[in-house]
Amino acid sequence: MYTYDELAAFVRGCTRCPLSRTRQNPVMGRGSLTADVLFIAEAPGNSEDRDGIPFTGPSGRVLDELLESAGLSREEIYLTNVVKCHPPGNRDPLPQEQEACILFLKHETILLRPKIIVCMGRVAAQRIIRPDLRITREHGSFLCRKNTWMTAVYHPSAILRDPAKMAETKEDFRRIREKRDELRG
Ligand code: SF4
Repeated sequence: MYTYDELAAFVRGCTRCPLSRTRQNPVMGRGSLTADVLFIAEAPGNSEDRDGIPFTGPSGRVLDELLESAGLSREEIYLTNVVKCHPPGNRDPLPQEQEACILFLKHETILLRPKIIVCMGRVAAQRIIRPDLRITREHGSFLCRKNTWMTAVYHPSAILRDPAKMAETKEDFRRIREKRDELRG
């Protein structure tokens, strides 16, 4: 098993896919290494590419509002992405880029051993939970796989585009916190 610092060093120097040529900064996941809840989005955005930190831009502010509304905080969760480098023009990461990068996510998951995995947005949900998952219909529902609970929620950037999604996503976050409390016993 790799340590967080070892994984961060691999990501910093990684040239496994073409995104290494266009990124400003790779964005390693961040948060509590003893987190019960692992949040996974698809890829760093413009602000994250500039800062090298997950969810620092407008989407980060939406995420903070969602966490706070559910009584959660960044300090007690771990946040990461399926690919660690920003895709140009904010496009979806290509399947081959996801394939090249997924080993870092696998190692982050081994390191954390989370009780709950929350996929934020369609790309992460279809990669991690099920390729045909429909986030509009299935967000907020849980399934248990190999002793880990999984759920999908809208990506914070989807809420920026359509603020009407905020209320139902707050409800999904409230249920995530409830599930975490239940699993803690
Ligand atoms: S996206 Fe992942 S695999 Fe591609 S260069 Fe960045 S860290 Fe490496």
